[in-house]
Amino acid sequence: MNMHSNTPATMTINNFRLPIHTGAIKPGWLHEAQKKGFTLVARVVDRMHLAVQCHLCGHLSVTRLFTLMSAQPLCPQCIEQAWRTDAAQAGLEFIGRDPDHRHYGIYKMSCGHEVRRQFALIKRVALAATGLRCETCHAKTEAREAHARGWELLGPDPQGDLNYRKYRHTDCGHVQRIARANMQSGRFGCGGCGVDWPAAPSFLYAMHFTLENGREIVKAGFSRDPQSRLHHQLKRDPSMPCTLLHMVAVPTGQDAIRLEKRLHADLKHAHPASVIDPAVYSKQIRVASEIYDGALTPIVLARLEEIEAEIARIPA
Ligand SMILES: [Zn+2]
Ligand SMILES: [Zn+2]
Ligand SMILES: [Zn+2]
Repeated sequence: MNMHSNTPATMTINNFRLPIHTGAIKPGWLHEAQKKGFTLVARVVDRMHLAVQCHLCGHLSVTRLFTLMSAQPLCPQCIEQAWRTDAAQAGLEFIGRDPDHRHYGIYKMSCGHEVRRQFALIKRVALAATGLRCETCHAKTEAREAHARGWELLGPDPQGDLNYRKYRHTDCGHVQRIARANMQSGRFGCGGCGVDWPAAPSFLYAMHFTLENGREIVKAGFSRDPQSRLHHQLKRDPSMPCTLLHMVAVPTGQDAIRLEKRLHADLKHAHPASVIDPAVYSKQIRVASEIYDGALTPIVLARLEEIEAEIARIPA
């Protein structure tokens, strides 16, 4: 306190220099402050405000006279300490208040990401009454889940259902909404390419087509129902000559996806000249890629037989 007679007396609270108000302090105010856990130190700023010192932590703060007399003044340092304690109990680090909203704090989560949450919510987390999740990490988890099934997570459900998300099928580019639980379990189909539940049994197949111009081509792929895929999805012209040459049963669609990817990678690597430009067949067959020249048919069939033998060796 600076009480020289020729300069106005001031006191510094929270790095602010405040003028001391020279009016009398009433005994009732001293008593009320004491009762509420504070020592009334001085009147500051104007006749409405008081400087009080917290009995618990010794922190000096300013309170309104009206608040002191009619309610319980709060010590900002004790409140912040309580936020820190709640944060620690909730497994978080308290970074600071949200400058834009007095009910919110900024916290660092154990993953290292910062989140903004209401103080009251963190208190509930500290009491284990609710959980807290990091949106950043959670979004990565969901993106990984989708990726593992050959889909890309695009964002929230366009229809606003919290259980659904918007995904794109990496293979065919089709975009659709799928329940997250179904993405996790694999119990869904693609409305674009007709690939059914990746967790359900599936088949690798080879199909032979003769295009309008007489060119013979062979397609390898996988489906839960190759016959239906051939007749209802692939052929644009029902009269196009085509044959399902061979099918290999695969325990799950996931295995089928994996085996099919490997098959195409091997074929493209060993026979790059046999890969046919989609422009050649896209008007007649509904598929974006992975069709080979008909001359490659014996090789495709031999590879399917190798895969069949490989699957037979896997213990059930
Ligand atoms: Zn305090
Ligand atoms: Zn995180
Ligand atoms: Zn698809």
